Amino acid sequence: MAHLNKIVIVGGGSAGWICAAMLSHYFQNGPTQVELVESEEIGTIGVGESTIPPFLQLIRTLGINEQEFIQETQAAFKLGIRFENWRAKGDVYYHPFGQIGGPLEVNEFYQCWLRAKQNGHPSGLQDFAPATVMADAGKFMLPSKAQRTMIANANYALHIDARLVALYLRRFAEARGVKRTEGVVTDVVTRPDGGIAKVILRDGREAAGDFFIDCSGFRSLLIGKTLGEPFRDWTDVLLCDRAVALQTENVGAPHPYTLAQAQDFGWRWRIPLQHRSGNGYVFCSKYLSDDEAVAALVGQVQGETVLGPTIIPFKTGMRQRLWVRNCVAIGLAGGFIEPLESTALHLIYKGMDYLLRFFPDLDADPTLAAEYNRRMTVDYEEIRDFIVLHYATTKRDDTPFWRAYQQVEIPESLRERIALFKAAGVLRDGVDDMFRAPSWQSVMEGMGVRPDRYQQLVDRIPLSVIMNLMDKSAPMLADFVATLPSHEEFLRTHCPAAPFKRSA
Ligand code: FAD
Repeated sequence: MAHLNKIVIVGGGSAGWICAAMLSHYFQNGPTQVELVESEEIGTIGVGESTIPPFLQLIRTLGINEQEFIQETQAAFKLGIRFENWRAKGDVYYHPFGQIGGPLEVNEFYQCWLRAKQNGHPSGLQDFAPATVMADAGKFMLPSKAQRTMIANANYALHIDARLVALYLRRFAEARGVKRTEGVVTDVVTRPDGGIAKVILRDGREAAGDFFIDCSGFRSLLIGKTLGEPFRDWTDVLLCDRAVALQTENVGAPHPYTLAQAQDFGWRWRIPLQHRSGNGYVFCSKYLSDDEAVAALVGQVQGETVLGPTIIPFKTGMRQRLWVRNCVAIGLAGGFIEPLESTALHLIYKGMDYLLRFFPDLDADPTLAAEYNRRMTVDYEEIRDFIVLHYATTKRDDTPFWRAYQQVEIPESLRERIALFKAAGVLRDGVDDMFRAPSWQSVMEGMGVRPDRYQQLVDRIPLSVIMNLMDKSAPMLADFVATLPSHEEFLRTHCPAAPFKRSA
């Protein structure tokens, strides 16, 4: 087997530095050198601040101390997403991390709850979700520190400062041997077999390698521009194509959830960190101009502006193949699905995780690439379907944007999932463990999609047992959560970041 001697990463945004950190962790003493080329002049996209729980898996895999990471990157905790105005104006629901209730014998909690609802129980599904109850009360505790309590099965992720995280991972990767080259790539030279041989910088320097990772963002320098891999356009099912982003001073205590508030022509996010908040409006340019979007966002954010507003155009979809010959595209260079469920950073980690699993040698066996492409495509499509679910099930028809969604032909795969769910609350297992049953159940319930019946197996349990469980467990959970520290207090006590200097 001929090992790869050199891997070149083009791009130093979140994608580039996550890839560099992972490679440097695994190849610290190995035969493969890693060089990362990035350009300060071009810069990074500067957004991407809400994560999902597997992000912490990445941090732990790299052997990084979680508390230190939070302190150094001004991070805060995220227990889920609070959706406002999605089903109808005034409607609120949560998509929490972790479990909802606990199973009763072999029966899923959700099925028991459905039976209780059919028998007139007044509880809401989220009354039994520890992460939702904590998020709604502005409380936080690490579930690992509360084993054998009612929040033990909650889960969490982080809100992060994208720039500080990239800097942190850069230090991590450089300390483990990654060579960073500053400069603008102006040319890409291909090999006779069509693979990539080297990239050439504006000042004539070159970075040659056996294998290339395209992390060049929406420019997609290698997989798109050079290799010409076709783009699968999903803008027919996800209509938003622009965002305006704005950073503000914090006002009030930071909430331990991402706010995703539906707007007239898209939706708005709010992501509180320790030193500031990230805000944005994701919108559809067919119905709203940049100026109107900026005005709408500025009119709704709290706190003085720290940075922005910045307009970010994007196109939803992915490259037909993410691994072509000796090049893999990771991050925005490979594809993008709007950030409603904060999945892009996860796809970066996943892309790198699969690459390590199917790691090539100098021959770059095409069967490895084929399997990589199959797995990543399924993940992308599953996320696309999950995001479309939020729009396709809305009752809103108050603006041309929301009315346009009523004409959208939803993907067959999602139509089948919804039909299966409606039949008896059954979920089709995906290949990825990113969004498990509680995620689909939360969004379905939040959007008003409830199964026609529960699974008959639940009838084996006496109704009184189920009703009793529902009667008791929600108040017990609420009472326990009331005893927990607030999110702000938890941050201050356990992982306070140093005061932040804006010029830093
Ligand atoms: P970039 O950050 O654009 O980095 C590209 C890199 O390539 C830069 O270093 C640039 O300098 C370099 N480069 C480009 N061309 C050249 C060249 N010619 N020569 C040298 N260097 C070059 N994700 C989440 O997980 N959660 C979120 O909440 C979230 N919110 C988002 C909101 C919006 C509006 C958008 C658009 C995206 C969001 N994302 C989110 C996605 C997330 O921002 C990206 O997935 C992530 O930042 C990775 O970006 P990247 O590194 O691929 O690209």
